[in-house]
Amino acid sequence: MQKKAVFPGSFDPFTAGHEALVIKGLEIFDEIIIAVGVNSDKKGFLPVDKRIDLIKTVFKNNHRVQVKSYSCLTVDFCKENGATHILRGLRNAADFEYENNIAQVNRLISNGIETVFLLSQPEHAALSSSIVRELIRYNKDVKMFLPSGGDFEYFFNL
Ligand code: ADP
Repeated sequence: MQKKAVFPGSFDPFTAGHEALVIKGLEIFDEIIIAVGVNSDKKGFLPVDKRIDLIKTVFKNNHRVQVKSYSCLTVDFCKENGATHILRGLRNAADFEYENNIAQVNRLISNGIETVFLLSQPEHAALSSSIVRELIRYNKDVKMFLPSGGDFEYFFNL
């Protein structure tokens, strides 16, 4: 059976840490859907369509990765898309505290969708989308924090 996972997040923007996590995840899963959560109450830094376009450029040569948006419960999105697992990353104990509760509830309400956690690479342990956003606002070079193959020129013209 093909093993499919959903990697949900805001990805505002998608970073080198997210990319490394997906690449590691492909060692475990046959297919990964990167699912950009749409929160109508929260205006993001990048529009959701732009986030999706940028992520697609990163994985344009990888047919095992799909990119979609969603605005329902993550477990419902998993079911609609035939995924049995949720993939999430852990950088530190604070991530664990936050993720643990969500994963437990997701398991209870979904009748068995399991969350698989992968540890971040040491070089990405301090990296977050919010740090990248802050640096962009102050015109700092963020290339080293972004996926190497993506088309991120867009940022530099914001
Ligand atoms: P959310 O808003 O749902 O936390 P993010 O886009 O910030 O979404 O992150 C999505 C997932 O990627 C989360 O599981 C987060 O822990 C993980 N993640 C974020 N940054 C990194 C990183 N540098 N290394 C590994 N995992 C990361």
